[in-house]
Amino acid sequence: MLKHWINGKEVESKETFTNYNPATMEEICEVASGGEKEINEAVLAAKEAFPKWANTPAKERAKLMRNLGELIDKNVPKIAELETKDTGLPIHQTKNVLIPRASHNFNFFAEVCTRMDGHTYPVDDQMLNYTLYQPVGVCGLISPWNVPFMTATWKTAPCLALGNTAVLKMSELSPLTAHQLGQLALEAGIPSGVLNVIQGYGSTAGAALTKHHDVRAISFTGGTATGRQIMASAGIKKYSMELGGKSPVIIFDDADLERALDAALFTIFSLNGERCTAGSRIFIQESVYDKFVAEFARRAKRLIVGDPTDPSTQVGSMITKQHYDKVTGYIDIGMKEGACLLAGGLERPADLPVHLSKGQFIQPTVFANVDNKMRIAQEEIFGPVVCLMKFKDETEGLKLANDVEYGLASYIWTQDIGKAHRVARGIEAGMVFINSQNVRDLRQPFGGVKASGTGREGGNYSFEVFTEIKNVCISM
Ligand code: NAD
Repeated sequence: MLKHWINGKEVESKETFTNYNPATMEEICEVASGGEKEINEAVLAAKEAFPKWANTPAKERAKLMRNLGELIDKNVPKIAELETKDTGLPIHQTKNVLIPRASHNFNFFAEVCTRMDGHTYPVDDQMLNYTLYQPVGVCGLISPWNVPFMTATWKTAPCLALGNTAVLKMSELSPLTAHQLGQLALEAGIPSGVLNVIQGYGSTAGAALTKHHDVRAISFTGGTATGRQIMASAGIKKYSMELGGKSPVIIFDDADLERALDAALFTIFSLNGERCTAGSRIFIQESVYDKFVAEFARRAKRLIVGDPTDPSTQVGSMITKQHYDKVTGYIDIGMKEGACLLAGGLERPADLPVHLSKGQFIQPTVFANVDNKMRIAQEEIFGPVVCLMKFKDETEGLKLANDVEYGLASYIWTQDIGKAHRVARGIEAGMVFINSQNVRDLRQPFGGVKASGTGREGGNYSFEVFTEIKNVCISM
């Protein structure tokens, strides 16, 4: 049984659930299913570990963060294989991008925590105010299944480096690598109780964690509906809410179309399309629409869908049968709404080997001539399905891009620098990429507006959720 990590020890639960490999539907293992009891134990351990950890010199905490980064580096192949087995993500993406990024997260926040400073506000020569950033206490970290190890470490690294202790609740759909994280943290020398990992469902373990009185901050990544539920029920806490997306890609007729095609294909079909920042709504200026659409569909058809463990695979398996049904349900809706299906669709990919016959595979699916009011253009599908739409000019392109509930990422393609800046300013999104696919720098603020969430994580912006700022005023 895959167990929890509580206060440095592996702990079982009476209840368990079964974890499956979505590509083969074979059972991987039984997983301990935590609830209120396990959450209470984990929060207590984190609370007791907090004073000593918060007072550990930043240099020492940084050293332990680097140790953990090094251990992750040494274990990249093993962790990547587990992640691929658990989620259906292609191995070349887990091994070359996602798991190595987890180690960067620890190395990066090791630097950040040793460089923390504050501000001073002198008031004539009578008063001096200065600010201190201090750890918050016990933090509840809740992670989804789509890039589980990367997201868990993206939360754990700043949380611990800045002097907090944590209870990490992983998605019930991707428990394997979080268990590794708990183990490697102990091997790295991070004291017992500083990082506790609880496996279990959102409605039991997740809800108990978010409502717990001793949890001072919640860093949540997941769906918008869950985010709303947590904010309505968890009470007065610090929050970072990294929620869903339906991100626009705006391609003007003066864009470098070759690069735009490649990047647009990448932003929707990498990570199986199960990506919060996926460019799932592509707006193309009318004079280049036909050319772009034909070439985009041609390239989408060439993507290799198949065994996630095969290094040549570009699109693997959806996470569960239920998610497969959701995504194919949207493909069905798109066809009924009258969108033009140019690639993919409901048929299973051809030539899948026998051992993948029960897997959750969907062909990269391209809809053209979509109306922005259609459900496929408005609702987060979270799979390899993209909507192509036409626009006339800058004003209409921006209006259509903003006409959606979400506001996470956005992508603009043009050679006109003035237009690029105007659209970047007008677009309702937390992140704008101009002439670029989604390239991350760990210093940048990550997060969204509107239904995509509140709060930012990354660089010093992680202070928002993982520190309290205190003002000290001295009379002179
Ligand atoms: P989800 O909201 O169903 O679950 C996310 C996590 O919350 C899981 O660990 C789940 O067990 C837990 N949870 C569920 N109900 C809960 C409750 N009542 N209280 C506390 N915890 C609860 O999301 P998901 O299906 O795992 O992930 C997909 C979603 O995550 C998509 O909408 C995607 O866009 C979003 N996402 C956002 C970002 C971002 O940075 N903005 C990144 C990745 C994924």
